[in-house]
Amino acid sequence: MNEERIPLADILNATRVPYIPAQLSAPTGLVNDTLGRPLRDLRISVTDRCNFRCSYCMPKEVFDRHYVFLPQSSLLTFKEITRLARIFVAHGVEKFRLTGGEPLLRRHLEVLIEMLANLQTPEGKPLDITLTTNAVLLAKKAQSLKDAGLQRVTVSLDALDDAIFRRMNGVDFPVKDVLKGIEAAQKVGLWPIKINMVVKRGVNDAEILPMARYFRHTGAMLRFIEYMDVGATNGWRMDEVLPSGQVIERINAEFPLAAIDPNYIGETAERWRYADGAGEIGVISSVTQAFCSDCTRARLSTEGKLFLCLFASKGHDLRALLRGDYADDQIAAAVSHIWRARTDRYSELRTALPAKGEVPRSLSKRVEMSYIGG
Ligand code: SAM
Repeated sequence: MNEERIPLADILNATRVPYIPAQLSAPTGLVNDTLGRPLRDLRISVTDRCNFRCSYCMPKEVFDRHYVFLPQSSLLTFKEITRLARIFVAHGVEKFRLTGGEPLLRRHLEVLIEMLANLQTPEGKPLDITLTTNAVLLAKKAQSLKDAGLQRVTVSLDALDDAIFRRMNGVDFPVKDVLKGIEAAQKVGLWPIKINMVVKRGVNDAEILPMARYFRHTGAMLRFIEYMDVGATNGWRMDEVLPSGQVIERINAEFPLAAIDPNYIGETAERWRYADGAGEIGVISSVTQAFCSDCTRARLSTEGKLFLCLFASKGHDLRALLRGDYADDQIAAAVSHIWRARTDRYSELRTALPAKGEVPRSLSKRVEMSYIGG
């Protein structure tokens, strides 16, 4: 990698230093956006690198050996992430999800987990810390992650058929090693586990039922994600999206399902349970039913930009504050200012957010993918 080249993401957003209100008021544990949605959930991308080249996410034609990933100096350090995390907790964040890229590629990730696990909510409660992974390194790291304070993991697995899975992950990685990672997670108590399957019609939709059969009775929660457009690079086409409604229909025909209430307001997955008591599944309908109305999530990119929406094309450069001469109360005020201004028709969207039933198009530029992370 040529370290002297400046990643496009940095050039595009270099000037967006967040505004710091003159009047600094201490965080109260609750900050609402313009639609009254509190800030509860922060997804932290710890690396822009991945050991998979999934065609729908980081296709190998784009992420080849010439692709310039962020230099180490651009990444937030663990100290910087923890400093921000403390500020977000003071504003009411209760849940952190570590993601990427592939988060287990970030060296010494356990150290960050331990630092985050030492934080508490303003009421003195522990935080919910989880991680989304492709599981390549999970069998090796499950115990140390658990020891560091990680509570749960979500594993991405798009097929049980080995040929389909190897093709989809773009690096010929076998299913059996992902299953070993899942077993290891269960063994050490990183449980209940969630399994994310991105469904592409004509590519892996024949795997819906085998996946459902496999994970019934295991306690794992299988979630089917509608295939999303992530910019120009994944060649997204609407006819490759299998609406969640059809996923439910197919499973229901073999195993009757009943809808269940969300665990909490703002949960991304719509939950269903097997009528015979074999467990539950979820569907994430990011295309056919964008779930904006109760969204309490923010995303922190690898290089420290805060995104208020999966479909936002620009982030707010918190790293500029961390590395500038700003105190915690100033950064907290900036974060609060950013969140309070958040709307549904988010002004920085390249296109308006989809109304229910519409299809979101032209998502963020590929260069900003490092913040998407599950
Ligand atoms: N590398 C980790 C993993 O594989 O879980 C974390 C990052 S990955 C980007 C997070 C989640 O986003 C995965 O479950 C992945 O399947 C999902 N994802 C990525 N691209 C997607 C797309 N185009 N449509 C729907 N889901 C997508």
